[in-house]
Amino acid sequence: MAEVEGSALIAQSIQREGIETLFGLAGGPIQDIMGFAPHFGVRPIGVRHEQAATFAAAAYGYVRNQVGVAVLAAGPAVSNGVTGAHVAYDNCFPLVILGGSGPQRGRYTGTFQETENVPMFKGITKMAVQVESTARIPEYMAMAFRKARTGRPGPVYLDLPSDVIQNGVDEESVRWPSNYYTDAPPGGNPDQVRRAAELLLNAERPMMIVGKGVRWSEPTAELRELIESLGMPYIASPMGRGFIPDDHLLNLGAARSAIMGNADVVLVAGSRLNWMFEFGRRFPPDAKIIHIDIEAEEIGFNRAVDVGIVGDARAVLGQILAELEGKTAGMRERAEEGPWLTSLRNQVEGNAGRIADRLNSDAKPILTHRLLHEVSQVFPRETIYSVDGQTTLATGRQVLQSYTPASRLNSGSNGCMGVGVPFAIGAKLARPDVPVVSVNGDCAFGFNAMEMETAVRCQLPIVFIINNNSGIVGGSLEAHMGLPEGYEERVATYTPDIRYDRILEAFGGYTENVTEPSEINAALQRAFQATQEGRVACVNVISDHMEVMPRSGSRGGSLMGYDR
Ligand code: ADP
Repeated sequence: MAEVEGSALIAQSIQREGIETLFGLAGGPIQDIMGFAPHFGVRPIGVRHEQAATFAAAAYGYVRNQVGVAVLAAGPAVSNGVTGAHVAYDNCFPLVILGGSGPQRGRYTGTFQETENVPMFKGITKMAVQVESTARIPEYMAMAFRKARTGRPGPVYLDLPSDVIQNGVDEESVRWPSNYYTDAPPGGNPDQVRRAAELLLNAERPMMIVGKGVRWSEPTAELRELIESLGMPYIASPMGRGFIPDDHLLNLGAARSAIMGNADVVLVAGSRLNWMFEFGRRFPPDAKIIHIDIEAEEIGFNRAVDVGIVGDARAVLGQILAELEGKTAGMRERAEEGPWLTSLRNQVEGNAGRIADRLNSDAKPILTHRLLHEVSQVFPRETIYSVDGQTTLATGRQVLQSYTPASRLNSGSNGCMGVGVPFAIGAKLARPDVPVVSVNGDCAFGFNAMEMETAVRCQLPIVFIINNNSGIVGGSLEAHMGLPEGYEERVATYTPDIRYDRILEAFGGYTENVTEPSEINAALQRAFQATQEGRVACVNVISDHMEVMPRSGSRGGSLMGYDR
């Protein structure tokens, strides 16, 4: 009678879900899960901090369209991973976090790293429970994957007492769940679909918002067909970019305020009307809202809807297209010549003019616009960007384009600083075939800079760029914090001009340090070439520490501007 250990059952469950990579920092009691993983064809990536494990796993899942898996040792290792759950919850990312805890048999006796982990995750997961029996591990794992993946995606926490995962059970007695969720995407209510089609056909100033919720069914053809057949302009949320290539003529993201402020029919697909879209209040009060979301509770949130369609974005867009069939002849042509698109495009031109000088500026210290403009020139269209840090995000919104699905990762719905490096690691593992570039402000970079060692060790040729303006929003935040006159100790600025590239040098990567605007392009090209040869690269760019962001449209100019 062969026995199988709980840790092996976990590794096997991950394999059975079709997941090839997990992220963790080996330690008690979960080290054996990482050890068993390769026996089941799952690659364990050993990171340097548990926060990075949960971030990298979330990004891996997002880019690969799967559930991400992170394993955390007990005690502080679990609390280190909490922020990843928070990020996954707020961004609706499917993530399974497996956290170790002290033995069940010694509960409440003060065993090593005995912690009430489950309550820590309760408010930021779809489910947080303790696994109480070794034999039931496969069942709990299936439950976790189903919860994380279906409906609105999100994180799940399973707490694993050391004895539960170290115990063995008779292999014959293990029951493996199969077909534990449906692959059939839910379609929308046909009456609502018909009403949506009617509103769109009769709109004078229609618009669409594309959010990152479209990631999971990837309706690229449907989105495109819809905007093109109606001549309907659209904008995308930061991570909703790329599902329609950013250079599509109907992308009016650069006239965001004008489009949101004047539309008469707004179709929202896979996005929430939260702070990112100004709670839906920016739309005219009489604008008709059509909202497609897989989560019924999202519909009508913050703003009254005229048509709320609960369903999968791809399925519902397909239904709307079927309803529009044969009714849209000439609409695109009329829209192209009409006042709506013309006025929006004029607005885009005006906004572009406002930043044109900065894109090519030879100012020294280097401006973020110039740096990111060079980035956009050097890396190919299919590049996945992971963007982090306030100034870098605000400028990246204007300058870095996305052309392919799930190719843009950033600080996301809760503005989490520190995701830039681990997100890039997760993305590179998910898509080894495309370039991955991580662009970070120096503050954001500092959170997880050590993970560059993970990239070197695991042979993940990523370009890490540091927009090094020596502090939080350079020095401009500190200047406005109200510190006493003459106060000398730095609070929100750092030691000037740190050579962050030397960190990667210590790990054995390819490095560049850039201070001259004219040197950026060549340095980026050399770094890119190094990654083509399998090396990890880091480009430290000394940028303007008192840079003030120009306004684009009516946003982006405030000190606390953020990528929306
Ligand atoms: P963004 O920040 O890009 O605007 P959000 O994270 O605010 O996007 O919103 C994503 C939304 O997408 C969530 O409300 C989520 O319920 C929804 N969603 C997730 N999966 C699907 C899907 N398959 N079809 C439609 N909506 C989805």
